[in-house]
Amino acid sequence: MPHTSLDREKKILEYLQEHGSASIQELVEVFGVSSMTIHRDLDKLAKVGQVQKKHGGATLAEKSNAKDDTCAMCGKPVSERTLFLLKLENGEEKRACCAHCGLMLQSRESSVWQSFTADYLRGHIVSAGQAVYVIGSDLNVCCVPSILSFGSQADAEKFQKGFGGTLATMEQAVHYLHGMMRTSGA
Ligand SMILES: [Zn+2]
Ligand SMILES: [Zn+2]
Repeated sequence: MPHTSLDREKKILEYLQEHGSASIQELVEVFGVSSMTIHRDLDKLAKVGQVQKKHGGATLAEKSNAKDDTCAMCGKPVSERTLFLLKLENGEEKRACCAHCGLMLQSRESSVWQSFTADYLRGHIVSAGQAVYVIGSDLNVCCVPSILSFGSQADAEKFQKGFGGTLATMEQAVHYLHGMMRTSGA
């Protein structure tokens, strides 16, 4: 059966989706091509992150969007509850695990178009510039010192009553982080 290599790559992917993994030998038999050809196809698929080559075969790559779910600053998994989102002018999106990393990332990026942060109490996304931040509360949910964000002053104060910390605007929170980085020499 004549296949173009593109066809075959698609079929190999389908095969892997069905079986989870396959040996080179198996693919050679299924597709009736040489092992050289299979190697070449797998190399191509591996390059675009679709499969992982294993000794003598291949498996479907781990969910390739995993990278979107880790913090662009520290690499920690991102939780929706403390998410900080940067939209760059070139359309790219960067996610941070919390306002601590998000604000650091924001001051490092030169082309931030918009930034958003999750309201810790309510879970919805608010504009980072308008959010109220609580710095250094007792609730260390993510990076330390903890910086959590709230959509309203009232919510931030409510949280502060329970967990302490200092209320800050975005500018003050950024300023605080910069001061901290200077003293730690990082
Ligand atoms: Zn982070
Ligand atoms: Zn964090």
